[in-house]
Amino acid sequence: MRTSLRTFVFHLLQAGLVAAAACAPAAADVRTQVAQAEKLADTDAAAALRQLEALAAAARGRSERDLLDVEAARCWVLAYTEPARAIDLAAALLADPANHDAPYVHVCRGYAYERSQRVDDALAEYDVGIEQGRRTGDDVALARALALRGEQRHVRGLYGDAIADLQEAYAIEHRLGNRGNESYVLNALANLYGDANVRDYDAALDTYARLLAEHGQAGGERELATAHFNIGTTLENIGDLARARSHFATALQLDEARGAPPEDIAEDKRAYGVILSKSDDHVHALALLGEAATLLQAHAPRDADAVATLRLSRGAAYRRAGRPLDALVDLEAARRYFAAGGNMRFLVKVHEERALAFAQAGNWRAAYGAQRAMGEAQRDIEKQTLDERMARLRVQFQAEQARLHNAELQYQNTLQRRDLDAARHVRRWQYVALGACAGLVVMLSIVAVRQRRFSRRMRDLALTDELTRLPNRRHFMALADEACAAACARGGPLALAALDIDHFKHINDRHGHAAGDLVLQRVAHVLRVALRPGDAIGRTGGEEFVALLAGATEDDALGAAERLRAAVADIDCAGLPAGVRPSVSIGVAAWTGPDDTLDALCRRADAALYAAKEGGRNRVELAAA
Ligand code: GH3
Ligand code: MG
Ligand code: MG
Repeated sequence: MRTSLRTFVFHLLQAGLVAAAACAPAAADVRTQVAQAEKLADTDAAAALRQLEALAAAARGRSERDLLDVEAARCWVLAYTEPARAIDLAAALLADPANHDAPYVHVCRGYAYERSQRVDDALAEYDVGIEQGRRTGDDVALARALALRGEQRHVRGLYGDAIADLQEAYAIEHRLGNRGNESYVLNALANLYGDANVRDYDAALDTYARLLAEHGQAGGERELATAHFNIGTTLENIGDLARARSHFATALQLDEARGAPPEDIAEDKRAYGVILSKSDDHVHALALLGEAATLLQAHAPRDADAVATLRLSRGAAYRRAGRPLDALVDLEAARRYFAAGGNMRFLVKVHEERALAFAQAGNWRAAYGAQRAMGEAQRDIEKQTLDERMARLRVQFQAEQARLHNAELQYQNTLQRRDLDAARHVRRWQYVALGACAGLVVMLSIVAVRQRRFSRRMRDLALTDELTRLPNRRHFMALADEACAAACARGGPLALAALDIDHFKHINDRHGHAAGDLVLQRVAHVLRVALRPGDAIGRTGGEEFVALLAGATEDDALGAAERLRAAVADIDCAGLPAGVRPSVSIGVAAWTGPDDTLDALCRRADAALYAAKEGGRNRVELAAA
């Protein structure tokens, strides 16, 4: 659909194909040829189609990918020139299961629908193209679909959605480095800014000026003409008719000089004619509008949109020129067309002009009717805008809700993470403390064991004679005390044997103290071995010992004493100084009954020992009871 602003013609494939050619040398040839054919389509669509058909024939059966590229390009050329054929071609391509995802073909079919005034079908195809383009990463198709959908949304008054689409399309084209298409989208954005309902005229004029400068340098005459045309339209919207007029004049000159298609010339003349009409140059205005009508009739009679737009413009010009009846003929034709297509924006204009024309003609009733129809159309637009705003608000609200929900989740996550970290921290210290405790316990245990060993040694030292390892006197007397008590409790028997090494002084004197010590140790060892397990022996003096013979009667005691004596007498003298043959004298005393005491027992044993010494030594004497 043509609007009061003009769009460029897309140069789509070229950038995408150059990029593709760089990474697929084998296909480069075909793609370069496709790009050349597309360029040719700007000036000679029929020749371009012939080239593409030849390329398709060559690719058929050889490379599915090349064939799809060629056919897609052919679809685009057809979409501009013969949209019905483009629709058929796209349908054939999409019927092939191999082309399951062919976003580019969907977008082409959408554009062909758009050219056939099937805007809803076009939008549906653009939606598919956008979805597939996003999914398959086909940015070339995605950007084109977004740009075309953005323009259609603009036409429908969905300004917010249109801006979103066009800005995304612009970002992609910019990234792809496709300058031609970048300009296309930029122009579409500027058209949107310059829309009478958006009214961001400064932004629009800035953008057009940028495009003008770029195309002036690049020598793109068609684009230059388009930029002048659009600047003219924007200035017209602002009400700067004088400047608008010069830009429209330039656009027309440029298009005529480059031999532009008659529809473009017709559009230039229409726009220029409208400005002249508004500037009260009615003669020239109507002449230009008439020329435009003739051109359209001769070259694009089926471009109903252009024809209706022209009739609206000419109707208004007739009205300004004070010819309401001529005006109403054109305006009625335009009304029918725009009403059928549901183009509310244009319908408002048509009704406004009709109201003025009816009023001019004195038909106040019809003027009032037209005025009311205008109000209704205006309300429809407002309702549509309101609906759109509501929808956007709802989306914004939902997005905000989702954002808040996310933020809350994130906050909770952070808290949980912090708790976990803290717990981990505490656990770590718990482990450290446990480890330290365990270490302490081990250390204390070691200390305790050592302490026990030490005290046992200390006790042993206190109880044991160091030289002979036998119980010392104190220890032995304690043992003897217990044994006496037990004998008392049991009622006996018990005996004690006092032993003294014979002539020990002599050994010391003769062989030295160390030899004496050795003899002491050897004798102690022999005595301990010769004693029965239940008996005990202690060193009670220098070379004196006492043996406690538990449960021994006098006879038992004498037998045991004799065994002890003999054991010493038979001692192994190896290691002892030569001639040293130790012997012991022994006095034995037996427990006499409950009145007997340890002291008395010891004394009697000593007396018996003395008697043994007296009796010649190395012998046993029994104490008298
Ligand atoms: P008798 O046959 O009458 O018992 O004569 P004796 O020489 O054995 O008795 P006496 O009491 O005259 O001498 C005991 C000696 O034992 C005196 C002392 O120096 C010595 N003696 C005491 N304790 C030890 C000791 O631990 N080591 C050594 N080498 N000699 C000791
Ligand atoms: Mg002695
Ligand atoms: Mg002695």
